[in-house]
This record gives sequence, structure tokens and C-alpha cells, in this order.
Amino acid sequence: APRILSGIQPTSDSFHLGNYLGALRQWVDLQDKGDAFYMVVDLHAITVLHAPKVLRKRTLVSAAQLIALGIDPSRSALFAQSQVAEHPMLSWILECQTGFGEAGRMTQFKDKSAKSDRVSVGLYTYPILQAADILLYQADYVPVGKDQKQHLELSRDLAERFNQSFGPTFTVPEPHILKSTETIKDLAEPDKKMSKSSESPKGCLYLLDDVNVMRKKIKSAVTDSEARVAYDPENKPGVSNLLNIHSSLSGVSVEKLEAEFEGKGYGDFKAAVADVVADNLGPIAQRTKEILDDKAELERILDDGAERAASAARKTLFKAYKKVGFRPPR
Ligand code: ATP
Ligand code: MG
Repeated sequence: APRILSGIQPTSDSFHLGNYLGALRQWVDLQDKGDAFYMVVDLHAITVLHAPKVLRKRTLVSAAQLIALGIDPSRSALFAQSQVAEHPMLSWILECQTGFGEAGRMTQFKDKSAKSDRVSVGLYTYPILQAADILLYQADYVPVGKDQKQHLELSRDLAERFNQSFGPTFTVPEPHILKSTETIKDLAEPDKKMSKSSESPKGCLYLLDDVNVMRKKIKSAVTDSEARVAYDPENKPGVSNLLNIHSSLSGVSVEKLEAEFEGKGYGDFKAAVADVVADNLGPIAQRTKEILDDKAELERILDDGAERAASAARKTLFKAYKKVGFRPPR
């Protein structure tokens, strides 16, 4: 069976619609297609400023949301990245195979470092740790949003380079990116992607938002002065984003939606988008809360997931250690 691997950062109290449509919905679907490993990537979360107490809580809230969305921990290994020590161990080996300039070309580092006055070395080497995350599990498919495409390229390059230098060791992973939802835009700034770390929560639809808050955010979404519901990402990024959101949640094609709202104003259209969002995301907050109520069970699930992940990771690390000339890890 193919191996599926992906991760999400516990960098906010709630995931958002971009995470869901770009990545997490595919995580759920792919569980039927192979052996899945899904992790809350807390090692990545400390590349930016963090508070330990907040991180500890967000890791659990993140895992609870994943289960609420449909990740089944009895089928998929669901775990916190920091519990599996093999990740930083392989990352070190891969760092030594990565060119300094090669790492410097990563646009996420450029974007995030430009916005911050505290830029850690970890933020710079982040994509190499991500490569280790993926290669450790011999992943065939990695469901992600488009913003991760460049990092996936690096993972592939590193796998191929290592295999070439030291002999076959790693599966070369394929990104699994759904075209229609590859980048969900911020509702208030539709030229930017929706992000957990965006400065303003106005344009970010959090999965755990109260439904009324979601409705308000959609109502104030930035559109344009044309008053025409039509798909044109270039000239009408706001409206096109809302069309994408509606279509991917309702299953109604964008063409059908354009026809349905022909001659109608943005008010009607936004109300329809809000209904679809509320129907689909409304129940998630309550489910998440119920899962969090049984904290002991949630922690048991994560420990069990980490155990299963570690046994897969250990095999690959052992191989890589041998290939580079190390004595076996203990
Ligand atoms: P941060 O701002 O902390 O980087 P993020 O919103 O980018 O948070 P990540 O944890 O970095 O979330 O990414 C989790 C997954 O969600 C990745 O697969 C990423 O590609 C995907 N993703 C993030 N934002 C979007 C978006 N706006 N549209 C589609 N996919 C997205
Ligand atoms: Mg991100």
C-alpha cells in the first residue's frame, strides 16, 4: 500500500478553511488509499517565537481538530512530531547534503523572515527538517497546499541526491495538491493566502470560530465594484475565492454557481457562501470540544501514534545511518 504523510503546525488555536480545503480534507480522503502518518509538527512551530504553555495546549487542540475532521487514529498514525526523535536525527544528515544557497532560495523563509525581527537558524533549516519528516516514512504522497510545493521539490531533490551518493535509501515523494483549492485566499486581502500567522484575523475563517463570526467575516469579505458573480482570479480575486470556497464545500460547479447568481448582487451571493460554510464547518467546533474533554484518551491516542510512527521511522534512520558510515543508532 502507498505511504501517505503530512503535517500541520500548531501555530494557532484553530486551523482555518485554507488548511482544511488545501490539505486536511485530502488527509481524510487518502486514509482509504494507503497507510497514513499524520503529525502535528511542533518542532516546526518553535522556529518562530512561542510560549511553552500555549504550544502544549495547541498541540492537543490541533490533534482534536484533526480527529473531529475525520482522521481515524485507529487507521492512521496520529502523533506529535517532537515525540519521534528520528526527525531531527535524519534532518542533520540531510542538512549536510543541502547547499547553503539551495536552502536560501526557499520563498517561505524569505516571506516569514521579512515579516519578523527575530529570525532563527531553525526557520532557515525548516524545509530540511520537513524533508526528513517525509523521507523517514518513505512517503509516496504528501497532501499539501500549493505554498508547500517548493519544499516538496527540495525533499525530492534531497532524496534523489542521497540515493545517488549512498545507494537506494529513500522513496522520492510526490506532492498531492488539489488544483481547485491549492490556495484559499484571505477574505480581507484576497491577494494573499489565508494563514494562521496573518496579522489580522478578519480575513481568516477559523474552523473553531463561532458560526456567527464566520458569517460576519464572509459578509465583510473584500470583493470588487463590478457586482458580477464571475470566476476571474486575475481581476476578481475576492469573488473568485468565494466561488472556489462555495464550490468545493457544496460540490456545485463554479459554472453552475455563476449561472445561479447571474443578475444578483454580492449580498445574496455572500449569504449563500455563509450558509454553505456554516453547514460544513459548524459542527467541527463542538466535536473538537468533546474530544478535548477526554484529555487522557487524546494523550493515549498521540502516544500510541508516536509509537507506531517511531517504529517506521527507526527502520529508515537505521538504513540512512549505515549508508553514511555511522554506527547503528541506539
Ligand atoms: P503558518 O502561517 O503558521 O505557516 P499555515 O496557515 O500556513 O500556518 P501550515 O501549518 O503551515 O498552515 O500548513 C498546513 C497545511 O495547510 C499545508 O499543507 C499548507 O500547504 C496548507 N495551507 C496553508 N494555508 C493554505 C491556504 N491558504 N490554502 C490552501 N492550503 C493551505
Ligand atoms: Mg504555513
